[in-house]
Amino acid sequence: MKSYVLTAFGKPLTLAETPTPQPQGTEVLLKMLASGVCHSDLHLHDGYYELGGGKRLTLSDRGINPPITMGHEIAGAVVAAGPEAKGIRAGDGYVAYPWIGCGTCVVCRSGNEQLCNDAHTLGIRRPGGYADHVIVPHPRYLYPLGRLSPQAAAPYACSGLTTYAALKRVGAATYTAQPILILGAGGLGLMCVKLLKALGGKGAIVADIDAGKREAALAAGAIAAVDPRAEKPGRAIRAAADGAVAAAIDLVGSSETAQLGTDMLARGGKYVIVGLMGGDLTLSLPLLPIRSITIEGMLVGTLAEFREVMDLVASGKVEPMPLVERPLARVNETLEDLRAGRIYGRAMLTP
Ligand SMILES: [Zn+2]
Ligand SMILES: [Zn+2]
Repeated sequence: MKSYVLTAFGKPLTLAETPTPQPQGTEVLLKMLASGVCHSDLHLHDGYYELGGGKRLTLSDRGINPPITMGHEIAGAVVAAGPEAKGIRAGDGYVAYPWIGCGTCVVCRSGNEQLCNDAHTLGIRRPGGYADHVIVPHPRYLYPLGRLSPQAAAPYACSGLTTYAALKRVGAATYTAQPILILGAGGLGLMCVKLLKALGGKGAIVADIDAGKREAALAAGAIAAVDPRAEKPGRAIRAAADGAVAAAIDLVGSSETAQLGTDMLARGGKYVIVGLMGGDLTLSLPLLPIRSITIEGMLVGTLAEFREVMDLVASGKVEPMPLVERPLARVNETLEDLRAGRIYGRAMLTP
């Protein structure tokens, strides 16, 4: 099999040819049909997260070291399965849930495998989708493609799941009653706007520094798109929301977006941070009780939430995401384009 492998942090991926693995036990071997390129892959590629104030969290500190075959938004067709892999059919297409835990600890048993301290994440801890074949450890992590195309379905393993789970943290009672603020209009932002629409949301006010991305957000159905670096962005946001916002979802996660997101909240409001761009935030503590705001950090979503969002997509209620399709061989160029902000929509590698 062919894989594009990160052999050293910060270096381009290199093509490796290795024997195609034979699935054992409950394992399933997929032939990759589509593999999304995610912003978090850039952090994995760099080997660190910016913590603000010049501090960094390295992936080595978290026990993540090369060689890594990245790619955690994977759709593929079943080539072979181990003798204990039940309920899947050879040749059928599936999307894989990549946020796999140990399966036995108290966190995994509570249904939060994505938070397991002994993670087996596809594309991080285990070889992922930047390859022509991928091993998935158990059929329970597979959702059938049905009539969905692999390219359309794959993004829901990360960007779709993450934004869906973030909207759940905000809560239907809030997002169906009033517009919410979405910070960032890249792949995640557009996904969030479309999912909000599919879930019957009142509307999204999107903030992004890039004019092209603001255009894309409006085209995706946002009710307003604001430049956070324009003069008094808060005024434009309040005008669109008819007051302070009850919730903000930060898909960027920089000092600037965190400041804007928390500043814009109404009393009792909630700021959900998903993005990992990096930075820090200074908070005036008395304002937390006085304003009664909630700040919630969130990483991807549960396996149950993955099935929920896939059911929603399979129902046809979610408008398709704009995709930028590239052959797998162009993975390095695609990572650089994503880093430079030149990708409008979700970058999707195909065999
Ligand atoms: Zn991702
Ligand atoms: Zn676990």
